[in-house]
Amino acid sequence: MSTATPSVTGLDPEALAKDAADVLTVIPANPGAVYSRRAARLQELADDTVLTDYFGLLRLLTRAQARLAQTSDAESLFGPQPQLQLSGSTPLSPASFDWGNFWQSGLQELISELLPLVTPSVQEVLKELATTEPEQLQTWATEMLDGRFTCVPARFSLFIWAALSLYWSHWAVNVAQVQAKVGEGHHRLCPVCGAHPIASVVREQPRQGLRYLHCSLCETQWHRVRAECTCCGDNRDIHLWAETETKAPLRIESCGSCKGYTKMLFTDINPRLEVAVDDLASMVMDQQLVEEGFHPSTVNPLLLAHEEPLAGEEPLASEDQKPAANA
Ligand SMILES: [Zn+2]
Ligand SMILES: [Zn+2]
Repeated sequence: MSTATPSVTGLDPEALAKDAADVLTVIPANPGAVYSRRAARLQELADDTVLTDYFGLLRLLTRAQARLAQTSDAESLFGPQPQLQLSGSTPLSPASFDWGNFWQSGLQELISELLPLVTPSVQEVLKELATTEPEQLQTWATEMLDGRFTCVPARFSLFIWAALSLYWSHWAVNVAQVQAKVGEGHHRLCPVCGAHPIASVVREQPRQGLRYLHCSLCETQWHRVRAECTCCGDNRDIHLWAETETKAPLRIESCGSCKGYTKMLFTDINPRLEVAVDDLASMVMDQQLVEEGFHPSTVNPLLLAHEEPLAGEEPLASEDQKPAANA
């Protein structure tokens, strides 16, 4: 991002309107639609990326997620409705309920869908994963949900997270609808499941210019005012970085206080942007921020093999027990 230029954000009108009653604090996902959009965006960018084979695999995986998310037999794929404390914070955080091992049904279904479509080398990985003991799979799932991505063999992490996300997004819809009615905003982590965001999305709907964070696990979006850092909430040293001076559809917001950074995707400028795919496709922009001493405060479900634990973090613990991100 050699042409990037930081610009100091000015007074954000949205901050002034943050208490306005018409701001939806939480937007529940439609998981089937989310995964279909992700697959379509991977197809659109296939010719522009140097990661052609990887994008092809991701497209098959997200298509399989989309099909399974819309299954007519949800009971056999997702099990019985889990017992949730809807009045608590992050009711769907792994520590808040018994999530069992129904996510492994989704994993086996994903593997069955992918096996006939992938290269022999990926087939080998999938066969190895399909015959892994359920106890081992449960251990790896727990480690990933705790943010210890590097404890899991890198060749498996993408598929395990895809299955966890399929399970979590299915049960998140109702929880997110309840949370939306409560009306509390400004969370750093997902108010439904406690996971980290992938990035910020500046939306045209429900009102132009509102910023939402998109969950890396359950696909819920939650509102966060644009004038504050998504990590630490500070607003004194926020900079925006972009490839072009004006109207850049993809920018990075950095915070001088906690040294964290988050991508911002302006879907009001380019409605085709998809949060996970465009974050992945713009990895070159991350490099400059890292060279400037900043750290990502986000997790991309399409790039888990590279995720190191975020500094000072236990990602899916209760939010109020946390130190400031990356501090
Ligand atoms: Zn979530
Ligand atoms: Zn900060």
